[in-house]
Formats: sequence, C-alpha cells, structure tokens
Amino acid sequence: MVVVGGGPAGMAAAISAARQGASVTLLERYAYLGGLAAGGMVLVLDDFADGATEITVRGIAQEMVERLHALGLAVYPPSDDRILSDEMWRRWSRWGLFDLYAKGPRKSIVYAVAFDPDGWKRVSNDLVEEAGIDVRLHSWYSAPIMEGDTIVGVICETKTGPQAILADVVIDASGDADVAASTGAPFVEGSYMVTTVFRLGNVDTEAAEHFEHSQPAECHAVNRQARRILGGSWAMWWLKTPLPGVVWCNCPHMTGYDGLSVEDLTAADREGRRRIAGLVEFAREHYPGFERAVVIDVAPQIGVRQSRLIEGEYVVTKDDVMSRAHFTDSVARGRGYYTPYRALLPQHVEQLLVAGRHYSVTPEAQKLSREIPPCMSMGEAAGTAAVEALDSGIAVRKVDVAAVQRRLRRHGADPGDIPSPRARPAATSSAAGSAAASTSAAAS
Ligand SMILES: Cc1cc2nc3c(=O)[nH]c(=O)nc-3n(C[C@H](O)[C@H](O)[C@H](O)COP(=O)(O)OP(=O)(O)OC[C@H]3O[C@@H](n4cnc5c(N)ncnc54)[C@H](O)[C@@H]3O)c2cc1C
Repeated sequence: MVVVGGGPAGMAAAISAARQGASVTLLERYAYLGGLAAGGMVLVLDDFADGATEITVRGIAQEMVERLHALGLAVYPPSDDRILSDEMWRRWSRWGLFDLYAKGPRKSIVYAVAFDPDGWKRVSNDLVEEAGIDVRLHSWYSAPIMEGDTIVGVICETKTGPQAILADVVIDASGDADVAASTGAPFVEGSYMVTTVFRLGNVDTEAAEHFEHSQPAECHAVNRQARRILGGSWAMWWLKTPLPGVVWCNCPHMTGYDGLSVEDLTAADREGRRRIAGLVEFAREHYPGFERAVVIDVAPQIGVRQSRLIEGEYVVTKDDVMSRAHFTDSVARGRGYYTPYRALLPQHVEQLLVAGRHYSVTPEAQKLSREIPPCMSMGEAAGTAAVEALDSGIAVRKVDVAAVQRRLRRHGADPGDIPSPRARPAATSSAAGSAAASTSAAAS
C-alpha cells in the first residue's frame, strides 16, 4: 500500500495499516513528517472534544499526545480545569485551549493540546519506525499509474529522477487531493485564507499576561493595533508554547491567494514576512513583555487551509457538521461530528482512498471540520479500511464498513459507529451501489 503525504492524516493512515500487517510505503515531499502540524507550525490540536466533557477523537491522535506529553512537549488542561470560569480562563486562554466555537468573551476550557513542532517530528519518526513503515522523504508525488479505472501505483519525483512505486491500494493524504485530482476523480476548488505562521522567542509571557489582566483597556488597544498591522488575525494573535519564552503566532490572515498556485504562494510568503516584520517592530515598542522579542522561525510550509476538495460518494455538508448528523458508515470523528466512510471514497477511480483536509466535504463545512485530530481520525479509518479490503480480497469501495468500525474500536479509535446522545441521524443515501451506501441509508 502507498500513502501519499506524511501529514497528520497520512501518518495515521500509514501507522494504522502497518500495525495491522500491511506493507506500507509513506511518501512525503519534504524532509520531515507532520505536514502542517510540523512544517506548518500549527501548534494546537483542536476538535478533540465535544464541549468540556466528551473526548471524541482517540486512537493514534491520542497516542501522539501521550508521547509528546511524556517528553514535556505537550500541554493540556487537566479534567478539573475544563470548565467555564474566570479563573480557568486566566490560566489557560493564552495557551489557546478553549472551545473555539463558543460565543462570548470568556469561553469554556476544553481538552485541546499545545505542542512543540520538533517534538511532533521526533515522535512521528518513532511511530513510523516502530510500525515498520518504508518512509520515503524528499519524494514528490507527480502522477498515478493506472490500469483502466484502477490506480495501481504512483510516480514521484526525486533528485535522481522519477520513481515508480506499485500498490494494491493508494491513500491520498496530500491535503490538496493531488493524487485524486490527477486520476480524474471529481473535485471542487475551495479556498480560504492562508497564513505564514511564526514563532517569537525572548518573550516574557508573565509580563505580557500581567499587562493583559491588570490593564485590560490598554492591552485591548495595543492588541487592536497589532492585529491591524498583521492585517487580520484571531483575537489572540500570540499563544504560549511548551518552550519557555517562545510564543506561537497563528497569523497573519491573508486572503485572495490560491493555495495551489506557485505565483500566489510565493507572493503570500513574501507578504506574510513583511507583515511579521512590522508586527515585531510594533510589539517590541508597545507590548510589555515583548521588548526583546525575536523571530525564531517562520513556518517552512506556508499554511494552506483549503484547496481541492474531492467530490466523493457522499459530500459532507455544513448542516451535517453543525447538527452532528450521524451516519451508519461513520468511521471518524471530530468535535462531536461524524465522517462517513463514503466521504473518503473518490468517484470514478478504484482502489483509491483519501484522508485529511481534502476529504469529500463542501467548502463551508471543511472550514469547520479540518482540524488536526479529525484528520488523524480519518487517516486511521482509511488505513484500517484498506487493510480490511486487502484481507477480505475485495475492493475498497465494497469494504464491509461494520468490520472496519470493529477493527477501529479494537485498536482504540472511536469510529463514531455508536451515536452520542447529541447526534442527529442523517437522512442520506447518495452512494448508490456501494456497500457503504447501503449501510448508511439505514441510518435515515
Ligand atoms: C494556518 C493554519 C492554522 C491552523 N490552525 C489549526 C489549529 O489551531 N488546530 C488544528 O487542529 N488545526 C488547525 N489547522 C488545520 C490543520 O492544520 C490541517 O487541516 C491539518 O494539518 C490537515 O492535515 P492533513 O494531513 O490532511 O494535511 P497536511 O497537514 O497539509 O499534510 C499533507 C502532507 O502531504 C504532503 N504532500 C503534499 N503534496 C504532496 C505531494 N505531491 N507529494 C508528496 N507529499 C505531498 C505535505 O508536505 C504534507 O506533509 C490550521 C491550518 C492552517 C493552515
């Protein structure tokens, strides 16, 4: 089996498949594993939990957290702190570990995780090595090898020329649906703001937090100006990280750039760096705690949140996400919402699965369901489904979804096959002809 893309979804797919006995090659264009969680320096794991109580994403995502935590490279609030209170807000808000979707100035603290990007690369290496995966970095997927409608391998570009790797199943975890699009599978081109994430060092976070709490009006004014210089950012433009004195800046927000265009990505990278330089100059002068701040790094991988989205056997909608529609073929979860197996199955091409931020979802719904833990949950499901298909000698499109769900549960993941009390059954039946569709239609 070949997995294209070593980001959160691809790693989870490769690890789950290899642990269940498959021979797996994992291809990654860059020099490290982790995708946006490592090279993109996206440093908070959101969508792990439904409100303050139920942890909804388990499995490999949770294992990753435990390993990072054991190294002192992940921070999360203990269960007693996961409440809505002024005290907890004060303690945890500058870590970014709150309910993103809650309304109001004070939000509930939830199970979310701040982590270190180099730690993520290190733990990823350990996990893939232990699973016996053939990892090939510096390998850029360029074309499918097809036999009729079936993908039977991939070509990737390397320093020594193109290489062909044959596979009985291919999982596209490129984030941009590079594989699916090149096979002719239908997709839509979504778009969303892009970001050159960066980190600052030499920050006295205690002084900065003291300023925030002791002079809220002044701090608000400084933050407003900082966000103006950035040209768009979330309300909290800086957050603490597990490294003392190092803060994570998930900004600036830059719109109008196409995440697939060389020209746009080049221009966005330059624009981002210009805005960061302006911000640092301002913060040093006006923000207590930032007097000696320096840029440690701008993420090597520009932050593309959305590009191609496949149009698979079922397209998840915003209403599905918001209403927590449950599907009988649910195989993955985010904060409470469910992902049906059909949303990992592209149309018109056989033996190809997708997992991650380019899954089959409308552009609006993807903005609400693209966080790292649910992408890992999808990856784990895709890897597991591929093994179930291979072990049963059937096509991935015809796989017995109930057997995939059982396997996932056996391996500690929560496929969402048992709806939580808040879930609303979905009235869906778009995937005529597939085993997954027939199980799902029963949910309606
Ligand atoms: C700026 C920003 C802020 C975000 N904030 C948060 C947040 O706070 N919390 C949260 O949980 N999520 C956040 N997200 C969302 C989250 O980071 C992504 O949706 C998630 O990482 C997607 O995982 P993925 O594995 O699907 O894709 P990616 O992380 O994009 O990984 C895809 C992998 O495939 C590789 N690849 C791509 N094309 C090829 C090719 N042709 N050949 C070989 N390899 C290839 C890439 O190099 C990469 O390693 C944010 C995203 C961005 C951009």
